[in-house]
Amino acid sequence: MRGIQGRFEVTGARPALAFFGNLEPSRLGHGYSFTGPAGVGKKTFARRLAQSLLCETPKETLLGYCGTCTACKLFVAGTHPDFVASEGTLKIGKEGGSALHDEELTSRDLVRELSLHGYRSAHRVVLLGDVAFATHEAANALLKFFEEPPRGVVVLLTTDSPGSLLETIRSRFVDIAFPPLGTAEVEAILVASGVEPERARLAAEVSLGSVTRARAVLDEDELGVRDASFAWFAAAIAGNPADASFLRLDDRSLNAAEKRGLAGELIELVRVAARDWAALALGGPSVPLLAADQRERLTRLPPRDPKAIVNLLGAIGEVERLARSNVSASLVVEYLRMQLAPPAPRRST
Ligand SMILES: [Zn+2]
Repeated sequence: MRGIQGRFEVTGARPALAFFGNLEPSRLGHGYSFTGPAGVGKKTFARRLAQSLLCETPKETLLGYCGTCTACKLFVAGTHPDFVASEGTLKIGKEGGSALHDEELTSRDLVRELSLHGYRSAHRVVLLGDVAFATHEAANALLKFFEEPPRGVVVLLTTDSPGSLLETIRSRFVDIAFPPLGTAEVEAILVASGVEPERARLAAEVSLGSVTRARAVLDEDELGVRDASFAWFAAAIAGNPADASFLRLDDRSLNAAEKRGLAGELIELVRVAARDWAALALGGPSVPLLAADQRERLTRLPPRDPKAIVNLLGAIGEVERLARSNVSASLVVEYLRMQLAPPAPRRST
């Protein structure tokens, strides 16, 4: 492995480190997509990679930067002319360069940015963080780039829902998976950012390996929703009335999109619960769980055929697709409950 020359501080990201650490610099492609849950270091890695490519200190590896050359200083200051970063939705029809929204890149900007060669560097890096293409024009801007990519230009795209990207776009990128972080890694990141150690440990334990989630969990409310979601899951599995009032889907002050967001949160936690339940059914009571704090509750669930438990994961995926449509959040939650309910009143022993 060529590895790293100079600095390159990231946590986790092992597949990406192995991939770029072994890549012959001359074989660098034009598009890489970093996929994985939110808060596992995709954008951090993309920024470190960009700085590595732009750093002017000679090295034999792709990864690593000196931190002291002019290019590194410009990069850290956010003013390197060959680094463009954009997050969120790409639209067309909006004028570019608006002082009000200078962080928002329109697809017209994107076309321009992608057609330029490096100003001062052999490379030019365009980072599209958690990007969504609002229009065909926006997607086409990127597809045009791949038809004839200018030398040295690299697009790094990060997403936690690769399924929401057009297949024509996805297929142009070399996909690199970012797995969840380890509990200790999340804890260390939180502590380094000033969270007191005890709270950091608790939040890391329920973070599912995501710094984003850990930070959300540090908010009391979130902890409540999490626990209530697992309780809801247990009730639904047992065929008991499952009280979803904690989701506040009847709250008239919330709009449909916000309610869908809340339902999405529940679905995500239910997926974790089902995965852990399947792990327990297949691997026995001491298998490692994603939601280690819920082990007791999950081991007390009424037994079900392991195959049926695994099938639940597919059913939950279906609910997730439904949740992305215009169906109301309450209906989605009710449909999810039906999927989880015991298949028949009788129980074989
Ligand atoms: Zn440098």
